[in-house]
Amino acid sequence: MNRQTPETNLRQSLLQKLEDLQRAGVTHLGHASPQPPIAAESNAERGSQPNNHDRDLKILAQEVATCDRCQELATSRNQTVFGVGNPHARLCFLGEAPGAEEDRQGKPFVGRAGKLLTDILEKGMGISRSDVYIFNILKCRPPGNRNPHPEESENCRTFLDRQLAIIAPEFICCLGAVAAHNLLNTTTPIGKLRGTFHDYLGIRVVCTYHPAYLLRNPSAKKSTWEDIQLLMDAMNIEKPNIKKP
Ligand code: SF4
Repeated sequence: MNRQTPETNLRQSLLQKLEDLQRAGVTHLGHASPQPPIAAESNAERGSQPNNHDRDLKILAQEVATCDRCQELATSRNQTVFGVGNPHARLCFLGEAPGAEEDRQGKPFVGRAGKLLTDILEKGMGISRSDVYIFNILKCRPPGNRNPHPEESENCRTFLDRQLAIIAPEFICCLGAVAAHNLLNTTTPIGKLRGTFHDYLGIRVVCTYHPAYLLRNPSAKKSTWEDIQLLMDAMNIEKPNIKKP
């Protein structure tokens, strides 16, 4: 018998919404869809196989690795940076685009900013990097670490939505304005987006400062810690420095 877990329900709901948007000619708030959210099999089949997230992500990563929709990025990258972490994660961290080190290693958030993100997770939240899923709006490094062009974000959006459809997280934490603006289709400054929850296709979204910004502006760490605590409260994650009675 196919038992419906909350995760399965959320995943099916997300897939259904993505399909509805696609049928209407968009995958996300006006973005064109060159690919279906899930290419290889029906939603019913996927919904009945919740343990196939890892396999589905690997198949999608292979597609991303050969993508050349953004000609400039496809020719200048060393490799695509798909995402890492738990394919069943309740919480995803979404950044902007790979930097030089990420482009070299093929993993997101591995430089100094990545170390700070790891500290936020392990020392602040008391969870491991491998408990969450970490990815970016763009899967290829923009030359010179420039901001993604709108058409590049649009090109890569289908991959992001398909990653989300596979993982079906309950929470997303957007790191920085570029991630928040692209996901939520807004131009509201990050300082006004942070501090509260937003919604993306039923997923609860918190926006906070990018770790690279925190390295340049340490005084903003207090605000990010407030955002992380908001997330921890909603996820019922106990603060690591509070001992159980
Ligand atoms: S950024 Fe995304 S859409 Fe553009 S070439 Fe890279 S993988 Fe393809």
